[in-house]
Amino acid sequence: MTLMMPRLGHVYPTAVSAIGSVVQDAAGREWIDGSSGAIACSIGHGHPHVLEGIHDQLQKASFLYRTQFASEPALRLAERLCVKLGYDAAFFVNSGSEAVETAVRLAQQFWREAGKPSKTQVLSRTISYHGSTAAALSLSGHWPRRRTAAALTGTPTLPTPNCQRCPLRQKRDECQLACANAVEQEIERRGADNIAALLVEPIVGASAAGLVPPEGYIKRLREICDRHDILLIADEVLTGLGRTGRWLAMDHEGVKADIVILGKGLNAGYFPISGILASERINGLLTRNQASFALGHTHSNHPVAAAAANAVLDILEQDSLVERAATMGAYLGDRLRAMIDDMPFATHLRGKGMLWGVELVQDDISYSPWPSELNAADTVVRHAFDLGLIVYPSSGFINGTSGDAVIVAPPFNTPQAVLDTLVDRLTTALELASRELHRKLKG
Ligand code: PMP
Repeated sequence: MTLMMPRLGHVYPTAVSAIGSVVQDAAGREWIDGSSGAIACSIGHGHPHVLEGIHDQLQKASFLYRTQFASEPALRLAERLCVKLGYDAAFFVNSGSEAVETAVRLAQQFWREAGKPSKTQVLSRTISYHGSTAAALSLSGHWPRRRTAAALTGTPTLPTPNCQRCPLRQKRDECQLACANAVEQEIERRGADNIAALLVEPIVGASAAGLVPPEGYIKRLREICDRHDILLIADEVLTGLGRTGRWLAMDHEGVKADIVILGKGLNAGYFPISGILASERINGLLTRNQASFALGHTHSNHPVAAAAANAVLDILEQDSLVERAATMGAYLGDRLRAMIDDMPFATHLRGKGMLWGVELVQDDISYSPWPSELNAADTVVRHAFDLGLIVYPSSGFINGTSGDAVIVAPPFNTPQAVLDTLVDRLTTALELASRELHRKLKG
């Protein structure tokens, strides 16, 4: 009788403390948290202000059910997020996956209320991750995770831009954003009358390690959605609230989505809470129609979770951590770029702010990806872990290959000296992993 763990037979150290960017186990071993857990702990671990906020709310009211009471922290969080990010209404659930499902249901309800009930389909892209529940995974182009699930209800069809390895085999300066134009072709093929929304990660996270689209792509998607009257949903579970150096990754192109999905950045790892923000167009129609948004879970709008998120927001604002994610993130990016410059095994640094991905290849002449059965990303992660560094593996099957990469995404307030040690340890881990993988490749 035991806890089910991700990898059978693997011995996980039992962590007993996590403070700032350092996690410690019972034996006193320390790790730099170079991936904020699963790209969540944006303000570092164990921040006293968040602990106090949670404690306070636990004492006042540890649970209030959404259909019976409003809670002060949830109301305040909704208002703060809407004012800051320019939206009209918020709703909170527990995980990123649930928030994605919530966004899809809201988009479908919007079209029913608008008198266009046939608009139900949601378009998504072939390299993406939107969550592990049935609908969210159905919309995800993350083949390693899809493989383990039955009864998925759809498959992403749109190309995800990747200028280093263009899925449409275009030349960067001549392509005229063929990847965005493919969205319009798919809409025309299916008929806009059948489509509720387009779901995108503005910067791709787990499945492609910080893949940034070409300039103008997000703007073009907005234009296409407007032209065909389709809602644009931005999945900012991983990028939202500062990770890429702006409050939202959509801000890099100054584009507003109709629905924004928040998760990891909202809770910073402290307490499960995720949410959606809806535009005035959506919330205004529901309000005018006196249509309630009937979806929810037992723990929706949870007061303690909302108190935790309010406290996280306080720290992000008071300590200017989003600005810091931009400046220290640029520093970290420079260090990582210098690292891979003389390392044939690691190439194509991508990302922004405090979200970086290092693509792993066999060498920098062929740029051949590693065979997926060698688990190149996991090999780097294992060596890094042994050296006292946590980084996050990503293998999203880029253009039918393993697409191995590692994600480096530390807390925004990680001290510069710790970032330097992080890069040193990662350098060693990459060298050790490269040797191990080349040995295995030779058989
Ligand atoms: N969307 C994105 C963009 C994500 O990165 C993730 C988690 N990696 C999810 C949704 C799902 O979030 P959760 O694991 O909290 O369900």
